[in-house]
Amino acid sequence: MTAISTDRQSFGVGVIGGPTTVIDLHGLRIVVDPTFDPPADYGYLHKTAGPAVPAAALGDVDVVLVSHSQHPDNLDTSGREFAVSSPLILSTPSGAAELGPRAAGLTPWERFSHPSGLTITATPALHGPADEVTPEGYVNCEVRGFLIEAPDSPTVYVGGDNASLSVVAEVARRSPRIDVALLNGGGAHVPSKYDDRPLTFTADRVAAAAEILGSPRVVVAHQDGWQHFADGPADTRRAFHRAGLEAVLRAAPLGSWSISDVTPGNPA
Ligand SMILES: [Zn+2]
Repeated sequence: MTAISTDRQSFGVGVIGGPTTVIDLHGLRIVVDPTFDPPADYGYLHKTAGPAVPAAALGDVDVVLVSHSQHPDNLDTSGREFAVSSPLILSTPSGAAELGPRAAGLTPWERFSHPSGLTITATPALHGPADEVTPEGYVNCEVRGFLIEAPDSPTVYVGGDNASLSVVAEVARRSPRIDVALLNGGGAHVPSKYDDRPLTFTADRVAAAAEILGSPRVVVAHQDGWQHFADGPADTRRAFHRAGLEAVLRAAPLGSWSISDVTPGNPA
């Protein structure tokens, strides 16, 4: 297992704790949902573990993806500092409004073109039970997923905090080839919200999402380090096994690359 460090992979995906994931692709380093605080209380949420890799050990970063800015398990205090000091943040329109001048807010299916040739397309995400959708079209708060595409690189789907398999089916329909899926599991639940029902995929539903996408490689994040996560990595592994999908699950210790140096059509 190779530890995530300043050394960039030609292609790499690795989780460093909670939702926080590093993606190296097309010469760029992308960090998803930065959280770097030590264990702490945030009122209704309790963080039980700090990051496996400190922010300083990542070196320069090119893009930070913030699926939503409202919840500390996806963007904590030092994660917010990390994001706003990066050259570019992509998030929801409401997130971009509070994250400053380097942030761009994307609506679902809006496409962002990076000068390097990379494109990032925002996807929908539903952060809780489908019967709780507001007239504005979201549950809990506005959340984005992201589809990352670049010449000669695997296509990566970043799901964000999403509990809806319909959303995943729509992503699969619009983007039939997703080489790597980064999905948030954990079965997050908060007693005060929606009858304590899951706000993100449970282990079984993250395996179902992987089946719908048909991706040959799947990395699961957002399943450790917080008290409100019901399902951990062992639950995810069992669920993928139950679904007959254990071979696609790329698990690694936090802080090391789950996938590295993969080229499209030549899965590692
Ligand atoms: Zn959230």
